[in-house]
Amino acid sequence: MRLVLLGPPGAGKGTQADQLVARYGIPRLSTGDMLRAAMAAGTALGERVKDNMVRGELVPDELVVAIVADRIREPDAAKGFILDGFPRNVPQAEALERLLQERGLKLDAVVELKVDETILLNRIQRRILQMTARGEALRPDDNAEVLKQRLAAYRAQTAPLSAHYRRKGLLKIVDGMQPIAAVAAAIVRALAAEPAEGLARKARKSKGKSAVTPRRAKAKRRPAGRSKAKKTKARQGAARTRRRG
Ligand code: ADP
Repeated sequence: MRLVLLGPPGAGKGTQADQLVARYGIPRLSTGDMLRAAMAAGTALGERVKDNMVRGELVPDELVVAIVADRIREPDAAKGFILDGFPRNVPQAEALERLLQERGLKLDAVVELKVDETILLNRIQRRILQMTARGEALRPDDNAEVLKQRLAAYRAQTAPLSAHYRRKGLLKIVDGMQPIAAVAAAIVRALAAEPAEGLARKARKSKGKSAVTPRRAKAKRRPAGRSKAKKTKARQGAARTRRRG
């Protein structure tokens, strides 16, 4: 199964991705984690993305696309994967589609976690305060100002992906404000359900073949069959009348 998790920062994508990893046995590919690891290791890539990341801006598309292209070729991603934090804009989504197409693959679904942004901001600010109080290290982009910037980047560049994937019949929307277990259950239900668009596409396909759906074709054949039987009966009746006469 190849999935994309969509949702603003703090929506719980990481938490839900971990649950899906356990359930489906496929890896979580988080571009945020990969970029942070590059930064921590001080690689050339890390150096290039540092400024964008600490400001809460997106890093250039070609860099993340290259990381994802390498990552999905690794053996553990052969059975599928959960993309978290990628794609983050329409050009990245198109690049992903091309990457998959080249290998004869496609996405199975895109799960969007819907959340209330004000509650989200409060939640993240509380998390930052608690982590600071416990003396835990914060991410360099974990502060209220940068968070606002990350939300703005999400609204402007990532939110349009919702419509993009809806048009492709891949989008599943889940209420991300419920307790963790309820969100996880809703995601599993959404993934098990046949997408409405998928059904519509199947119907269109069979229509193209026979001009009528199989069920309607059957319904149409039935009256024809009956009328033939009626005609035979009528003929036999007429023959009887003639004989009697
Ligand atoms: P968040 O918690 O905001 O969802 P992530 O951990 O996914 O953030 O990413 C942190 C930062 O890494 C982003 O603010 C951005 O600078 C960079 N980043 C991660 N993924 C991408 C991507 N697909 N395209 C561009 N930048 C990215």
